[in-house]
Amino acid sequence: MENDYYKILGVSRDASQEEIQKAYRKLSRQYHPDIAGKEFEDKFKEINEAYSVLSDPAKREEYDAGGSSFSGGGAGGFSPMDFSNLGDIFGQFFGGANPFGAPQSSPIPRENRGRDDLVSLAISLRDAVFGAEKEVEVTTFAKCKACDGTGSKSKSAPVPCPSCHGTGLKRQVQRSILGQILTTVPCPQCQGHGTVVEDPCPQCQGTGRIRVKRTIKVRIPAGIEDGTRIKLIGQGEAGENGGPAGDLYVEVHIAPNREFTRKGQDLHCWLSIPMTWAALGATTSVSTFDGQKDLEIPAGTQYGQTVVMPGLGLPKSEKERGDIVVHIQIEIPTSLSGEQKEVLEKFASLHDSGAGANMQAAQEMKPKKNIFARMKDALKGQ
Ligand SMILES: [Zn+2]
Ligand SMILES: [Zn+2]
Repeated sequence: MENDYYKILGVSRDASQEEIQKAYRKLSRQYHPDIAGKEFEDKFKEINEAYSVLSDPAKREEYDAGGSSFSGGGAGGFSPMDFSNLGDIFGQFFGGANPFGAPQSSPIPRENRGRDDLVSLAISLRDAVFGAEKEVEVTTFAKCKACDGTGSKSKSAPVPCPSCHGTGLKRQVQRSILGQILTTVPCPQCQGHGTVVEDPCPQCQGTGRIRVKRTIKVRIPAGIEDGTRIKLIGQGEAGENGGPAGDLYVEVHIAPNREFTRKGQDLHCWLSIPMTWAALGATTSVSTFDGQKDLEIPAGTQYGQTVVMPGLGLPKSEKERGDIVVHIQIEIPTSLSGEQKEVLEKFASLHDSGAGANMQAAQEMKPKKNIFARMKDALKGQ
């Protein structure tokens, strides 16, 4: 169990209250279980515990003075010593039943698996369409190169602790109003590990790992959904004293795009065209992630009608891609020249006479489909 509160918050031992607060705010946001997920609950608790001590000058002073008494308590909270003492008192009076959880009874393993890390990565919609190779920067623990993760300057194995003879425990006799009380506490010399490194590595203070900034390559698969977490096994924090590394989770966010909205594996865009194109039909050009593509606008296209450009969306499978769906908007001119007005009035006199020029309904009426769309529907069996 790692209990170096400074390391947990990633600040130096002489950090100011302001730095501690800043580090805490950043980490608590990043690792809040509602944001990071349930697997980060323990880490979040640890961050809060570290902050509750280091943000209180009195508690911090006490912690700095005898840091080891805080580790290995297991009961959580600020003063594990108090809990273990209480536990022992109950043990004496109630035949071993300990309402405060079992006290430590064997050495705490030196090797510890590193924690999982979480970073978020913003990618473009284009990267989501085609996939990409990206880099993320993480501040994390890496194995100390100087001692190869052993924590020992000469890379020698730890030896049994001379103070507790390898048990990791120390017995203490305390006088109280109840008489003499025997308590067991984690050995302060070896922090309860039962072993000590004789020549701690000066680079990592004997922990076998150091805090570094790393750049890690991530492969983004084509068609990725927003919010997907990519798990990179063994790329999280290095373990203590040569323990296995945690995993790194990269949460991928797709940045909004100016031209397309994603719906599933399809891309939607809106295209504004002159009313004459809608009436007469036209060929125009649409910019897609596969370059400029021709788009046929059929004669008689209505406002809100869609035209599909198949196979230009996001991958559905290895071979199949979604579509681009173009929603047609029609521009009605707001100012007409004399000549344009004349022509339109002539058109109106030919077109507007007769039934059906004005129709009323309680609901928005669906655009009238042109002959091609009707043929397509007939083929699809609609
Ligand atoms: Zn080292
Ligand atoms: Zn010891």
